[in-house]
Amino acid sequence: MITASRQDQPSPEDRAAPAQAFDVLIVGAGFGGLYALHKLRGMGLEVLALEAAESVGGTWWVNRYPGARVDIQSLEYSYAFSEDLQQDWCWTERYAAQPELLRYANHVADRFDLRRDIRLNTRVLAAHFDEVARRWRVSSADGGRWTARFLVLATGPLSSPNLPAFGGAEGGIERFAGRVLHSAAWPKEPLELRGRDVAVIGTGSSGVQLIPTLADQARALTVFQRTAAYVVPAHNGPLDLAWEARIKADYAGFRARNRNTYSGFGSELTPRPISALDATAEEREAAFEERWQVGGLGLLSTFRDLLTNPRANELAAEFVRGKIRQAVRDPATAERLCPHHPIGCKRLCAGTGYYETFNRPNVVLVDVNAHPIAAITPAGLVAGAREHRFDTLVLATGFDAFTGPVARIDLRGRGGLRIQDKWRGGPLNYLGLAVAGFPNLFHIAGPGSTSAFTNFFVMVEHHVDWVADCLAWLDARGHTTIEASTEAESDWVAFVNATAEKTVYLGCKSWYVGDNVPGKPHVFMPLACGFPAYAKRCAAVANSGYEGFIIEA
Ligand code: NAP
Repeated sequence: MITASRQDQPSPEDRAAPAQAFDVLIVGAGFGGLYALHKLRGMGLEVLALEAAESVGGTWWVNRYPGARVDIQSLEYSYAFSEDLQQDWCWTERYAAQPELLRYANHVADRFDLRRDIRLNTRVLAAHFDEVARRWRVSSADGGRWTARFLVLATGPLSSPNLPAFGGAEGGIERFAGRVLHSAAWPKEPLELRGRDVAVIGTGSSGVQLIPTLADQARALTVFQRTAAYVVPAHNGPLDLAWEARIKADYAGFRARNRNTYSGFGSELTPRPISALDATAEEREAAFEERWQVGGLGLLSTFRDLLTNPRANELAAEFVRGKIRQAVRDPATAERLCPHHPIGCKRLCAGTGYYETFNRPNVVLVDVNAHPIAAITPAGLVAGAREHRFDTLVLATGFDAFTGPVARIDLRGRGGLRIQDKWRGGPLNYLGLAVAGFPNLFHIAGPGSTSAFTNFFVMVEHHVDWVADCLAWLDARGHTTIEASTEAESDWVAFVNATAEKTVYLGCKSWYVGDNVPGKPHVFMPLACGFPAYAKRCAAVANSGYEGFIIEA
């Protein structure tokens, strides 16, 4: 057990009312935070998880918009750490919907008795590293105060909603007289949209799921599209019980094979080992068609080079554009729905009846790339010198990804260094796990890791296990602090950038590079080397005695 021995110099506030001391504080009780709590507590550490929401579940608590469901098959998008859990839990659908994912999070919290060490409704406001005590001092919006030797940020890469200013002070969202909803802050109470005139801004993964569902309910639905999306059919349905039985007969083997793939899922759909350019036109068409019929994100792994060779990528892109032209009756609408950036450059969307939705008489598509939204008005919005009127506005405008959730905290390292200043030019970090100047701080699924490209469960289990091993290693040697060196950090950021340059990911504006949030630095934040190569590098660092880290006794 790691002790609080360095806490011998209480701060002035502590003298008034001592802050509770822990070995580890975890920020967030989504799937990352829940596993971190289970794992670290299991090592005998005193751990507390602080969660802003009133429930566990993280992203699956807030993203409760109609149609929300996962885009990785549930037999893959789930914890692997407990054989009993993965055998006992039965998903009902191929891709679980948000309520089922939330039930799963709650089941895990109960099954592993996690709730007693989770404080809900607790938004962490500040976390300062006390260099004398060598401890993190953490405080919450409701006056809670804690100290801990280690701080684990399990805040999620996509948890800070992006709220565009649109017309700014003169024509901002607050002018709208109707109801405004954000996909990532959907109300808990049932919402009646029948008979309403609804507008959706945004056609990323959230919009793609929302739009067909809203079209079923609304009297009129206007979709404001800035960039058209590539949408593959999910082909969701009840879980195939024979497939489930086959997976469960060797779940550990299935998980291991998935961990060995680029994205931590899809081991049953590996890429053909050739370039798309080396297949004949007929072979290519047949290969893409086969993946289209299977459904889901596996289209991008039809050939080995779709994400690295722009010419190969364009062949897959054109295949999808062909599908759009078949699905959408009005040729002009079909053309507006056809994306022209590299496929996969923005996260590929999996949907159900998305393109077909635009054949409905109650659905209108408005291109706000050609005619940007100039202002929100009390009755709607102005784009292209024309007012579009509606009574309910749904923002599916995404997230201030990676850095947003961290920058919401007044996080300060050595010498009072603020994370907002440290990351002014982009999120400097080492291994995606640590930040120079911020000792004993670990980031789960943060920037600089393969988070955005890896099955989230594979990512968080890897990160938490790595952190757990690191803490045990430090403890066994009596070390008190571990901190990334600035050299290791610079080398890592250079590696992240160099890796991105070998891919198609720099070929468009996306949340991977911060382009979706005005004013955010244009920096590629996730690591695109694939999970196995990333895990190997993390393991090599650990095995070397934490090369690139400064360790103090
Ligand atoms: P997103 O992919 O960032 O999409 C946001 C949409 O809003 C884009 O179409 C964007 O257009 C548009 N937009 C943003 N600001 C705008 C403005 N000022 N004017 C007009 N349009 C604007 O966000 P998301 O759909 O919430 O998805 C984010 C990520 O969350 C996904 O990539 C995925 O990783 C995850 N997610 C997963 C699922 C799932 O598992 N099924 C579901 C939802 C989300 P531009 O493209 O032009 O910027």
